[in-house]
Amino acid sequence: MGKNGALSSASGAGEVQFEEQIRPARFGDFAGQKKIVENLKIFIAAARERDDALDHVLLSGPPGLGKTTLAYIVAHEMGVGIKATSGPVIDKPGNLAGLLTSLEKGDVLFIDEIHRLNPAVEEYLYSAMEDFKLDIMLDSGPSARSVQIAIPPFTLVGATTRAGLLTAPLRARFGINLRLDYYSAELLEKIVQRASRIFGVEIEKDGAFEIARRSRGTPRIANRLLRRARDFAQVNGDLHISKNIAKRTLEALEIDEYGLDEMDKRLISALIEKYRGGPVGVATLAMAVGEEPDTIEEVYEPYLIQEGYIMRTPRGRVATDLAYERFGIDKADPQSSLF
Ligand code: ATP
Repeated sequence: MGKNGALSSASGAGEVQFEEQIRPARFGDFAGQKKIVENLKIFIAAARERDDALDHVLLSGPPGLGKTTLAYIVAHEMGVGIKATSGPVIDKPGNLAGLLTSLEKGDVLFIDEIHRLNPAVEEYLYSAMEDFKLDIMLDSGPSARSVQIAIPPFTLVGATTRAGLLTAPLRARFGINLRLDYYSAELLEKIVQRASRIFGVEIEKDGAFEIARRSRGTPRIANRLLRRARDFAQVNGDLHISKNIAKRTLEALEIDEYGLDEMDKRLISALIEKYRGGPVGVATLAMAVGEEPDTIEEVYEPYLIQEGYIMRTPRGRVATDLAYERFGIDKADPQSSLF
C-alpha cells in the first residue's frame, strides 16, 4: 500500500464522493480539536472586522484528521472563495502565478502536502505571502528581466503531514500554526453518528462506539469503517448497524480489538521478531514490511508511538513492553509469538 493507501487519503471515486457528502462545512459540525477551533474563530472574527484577509495558516498532523476540512471551513466562515491544489502539482513557477493571479481579494489558496513544493516554486511563494507580489522572470540570458505583478491579499492555508520537513523560511511566513491531534473514541462516535444520519443508516450507540474506538483516532477511518459496516448491514437485510454487525465488519477487515490493522501488526511483528525489538532504522523496517519509509513515518508510526507500542530513539525504532504484552510475545523468548 503506497501513499494513497487505505489510511492516507481518500481513494476511489465512490470514496471521494462519500467524503465530500459528509465533510463538515462549518465549525458547528466539526467535532473536537477544541483549541484550534476556538483560536481560528477569534482570528477569523478579527480579520472580518478589519475587512482583511486572514493571516496565512499552517495545518499539520497525520492524514485524515481534518486539515482539508478545516481549510474549507475557514474559507466558508470568512465568506470567501477557495482554490485547492497540492505541493507536487505546482511543478513550475508559472503554475503558481496562474493560481495566484486567479484569486480574488481575501480568497483562500489551499496547498495540501506543502512540504513537497518544488524549491523554485517555493521561492516565488515567499514574496507572494509576504508582500502580495510576484516577481516573474521574462526571457533568459542577456535579455532576461523581471516584472512584478501585484496579487490581491489572500490567505494561504498549507497542510502537511510532516511539519518537520518544511523549510524554515516557509514556516516563518505562516502567522497561524496549528497542529491537529488524534481524536478520542467519544468524539469519533459523534462523527460516526452524524455521518450515519446523513446516509440515512440507523446505527446503535454500541455499534458506533465499536467503530469509533477501533479507528486509530482518525475521522476518515471511522467514516470508512462505517461505510463498510453499512455494506454488511445491507447484505444482512436491513440498514441497521448493531454492535454485532460493527464487530463482524471489523473482524472481516482484520482490525483487532485495539484498532490495529494489518500493516500495524506487520510492523510490530517485524520489529520484534526480525530485529529483536530494535533499535532498527525506519528504512530497514520499511523494507521488511514492503512499505515506503515515508508512509511509515507519516501514516503508521505516529499512531503506534502515541499508543505506546513503538518508541523513536536516536538509534532507531524500539518495541515497548506494551507491544510484547498486547501481542502475547514473551520478551525473553520472542519465537513463542502468537502472531
Ligand atoms: P489528508 O491529509 O489525508 O488529506 P485531512 O487531514 O485533510 O487528510 P480531511 O480530508 O479533512 O483530512 O478529513 C477526512 C474526512 O474526515 C472528511 O471527509 C470529513 O468528513 C471527516 N472529518 C475530519 N475531521 C472531522 C471532524 N473534526 N468532524 C467531523 N468530520 C471530520
